[in-house]
Amino acid sequence: MSSQSPALHTQSHRRYLQEALKLAREAQEAGSSPVGAVLVDADGEIVFRGRNRVGEAQTAEHVGDASVSHAEMDVFFQAGKLKDPESLTLYTSLEPCLMCGGASSLLQLGRLVWATGDAWGGSGRLIAWADHPAMRETEVVACPEPDLEHEGAALFAPEAKKAFPDEGWKLWQERYPVETAGID
Ligand SMILES: [Zn+2]
Repeated sequence: MSSQSPALHTQSHRRYLQEALKLAREAQEAGSSPVGAVLVDADGEIVFRGRNRVGEAQTAEHVGDASVSHAEMDVFFQAGKLKDPESLTLYTSLEPCLMCGGASSLLQLGRLVWATGDAWGGSGRLIAWADHPAMRETEVVACPEPDLEHEGAALFAPEAKKAFPDEGWKLWQERYPVETAGID
């Protein structure tokens, strides 16, 4: 086997973002926050699926019942030690928070793609332009599918209203005026 790492897959982002959104709805139905994530290898195969589990019990298979039981962490704990991380793409329904974005970059994932931006809690702008030497390898692709971006915004908006402080909700209202309208 060559010591060179396999390249990132070249397939469309769309179906992976749809899968992350599906997992986000599953999380919501289970009583957690609506966020989902999938890890995709160089061949375009989904190798791990994760979702937010903050509202559920911890199990042998999944981190749960903690403020840090985010979808991305669910994926990372399932995946264990990553082989060729730079060949992997993490797809999320929502722009990763500082913890999950930081973990993605420190793990040296090749690429990070999300359906919907998080104007309050998202870490994309830090990862994309970080001058921290440990955080310079991960490619960032924000909101490549406009209809899925709106779908994700509508799904997460009630949670943003509930979980974020007033200034965070205000940023969400500015970024997604249609999806945040009528939520109180
Ligand atoms: Zn997170």
